[in-house]
Amino acid sequence: MSTYKGSAPPDFAQRLAQSKQLIPKKHPITNDYTILTKTLGVGVNGKVLECIHKASGDRRALKILRDVPKSRRELDLHWRTCSHANIVNLKDVYENIFMGHRSLLVVMECMEGGELFDRIQRNGHFTERGAAEIVRYISLAVAHLHHMNIAHRDLKPENLLFTDNTPGALLKLTDFGFAKEVKGTLQTPCYTPYYVAPEVLGPEAYDTSCDLWSIGVITYILLCGFPPFYSAGGAPISPGMKKRIRQGQYTFPDPEWTNVSKEAKELIKGLLKTNPGERFKIDDVLKHRWIACYQKVPETPLASCQILLDEAEVWPDVQEEMSHALATMRVAEDPTKIKTISESKNPLLARRAKKKAKATK
Ligand code: ADP
Repeated sequence: MSTYKGSAPPDFAQRLAQSKQLIPKKHPITNDYTILTKTLGVGVNGKVLECIHKASGDRRALKILRDVPKSRRELDLHWRTCSHANIVNLKDVYENIFMGHRSLLVVMECMEGGELFDRIQRNGHFTERGAAEIVRYISLAVAHLHHMNIAHRDLKPENLLFTDNTPGALLKLTDFGFAKEVKGTLQTPCYTPYYVAPEVLGPEAYDTSCDLWSIGVITYILLCGFPPFYSAGGAPISPGMKKRIRQGQYTFPDPEWTNVSKEAKELIKGLLKTNPGERFKIDDVLKHRWIACYQKVPETPLASCQILLDEAEVWPDVQEEMSHALATMRVAEDPTKIKTISESKNPLLARRAKKKAKATK
C-alpha cells in the first residue's frame, strides 16, 4: 500500500476550475457511455453497474438514483467533497428518464479493488502497521468532511473501497446517502471537557461523533477480525447488544489481542467512548501516535485475515448489525426526528391528540 503524502489528486486543479455547484447533464448518458450489465456491487438503491466512457475508453461505475430531493442532497455533498484523495471521485451526473423514472445517473471512478474487508481476506497477510495505514486513510477522508461541517453518518466497511488490486492502492470513502451538513462550527474546543451532558452538546456533535464511533469499530475489526459488540443469538441489534453499545461493554480478548500495541487499544478506547462528549474528535485521531507515526507501528502479524475467512458466513450479520447500530444512532442523534404529537402530521396521533383535548375540557 502506498504512503499518502497529502498531495492533491491529479484532477484537483481542473476541479477547482469547475463550478462548485453540481449541474447534472441533461442529454442521454448513452451519448457518452456504454452501460454494461456487469454488477460491481449492490446497495440499498440497487445495483452499481460498470460502464465505459466512450471518449477515453475508461471503465467507470454507474449508480442510479431516483431524482428526488434526498438524492440531490446526497450528490451535492458528495460532489463538494470528492476532490479529496480518499473520497471516491464523481465524474459525471445525468438527469435522464431511466426505466420510466426520472433518475439521476451517477458516474464515479471505478474502484476495482473492491470493498475493504474483501481485500484483506484475499491478501492473506496483514500486519498492525497495515491496519494503522488503513485507519489513517479513513481518518483523512473523515477529517476532510468534518472540517467542511459535513457528517457522513454511514461509515461502514461496504462504503470503503480500494482503487485497484496493486500494493499501492488507495482506500476511498463513498455513499453519501446519509451525509448531513451540520450547522454551526465543528471546530474542536481548545479544552477537552471531562464530561459534557448530551443535552449540552449541540446536535452537530452527535452527527460527527457517530463517524468516530464507526472508525473505532472498523479499527477493532481490522486488528482482530471480529466486531467489538456481539448480538445475543445472532439477532441483529438485539436489546442486549444495544445495551452493550450504550454502556461501552467490549473487551480485548486473548489470544487475538495479546500482541496488539497498547497505542492501538488506547485509540480504540477513545473512539468507542459511549458519551459523544468524551469521544475523540477527528483531529484527536490524526494527532494520535498510532496514526501520526503509523510508519513506526510494529509490523506484528494479525489474525484478522484468517478469522475473516473462517467466519465469512457471519460477515453479512456483522454488516447488518453495524448498519442497524448506525441507523439507531442517527435517529437518537437527530432531534428533528422526534416530534411532539401537536407537531406530528400522523393522522392517528392527531385524532388521539383531539380526543385528549376533548377529555380535558
Ligand atoms: P447504495 O447507496 O445503494 O447502498 P453504494 O454507493 O453503497 O450504494 O454502493 C453499493 C456497492 O456497490 C458498494 O458496497 C460497492 O461494493 C459497489 N460500488 C459502489 N461504488 C462503486 C465504485 N465507484 N466502484 C466500484 N464499486 C462500487
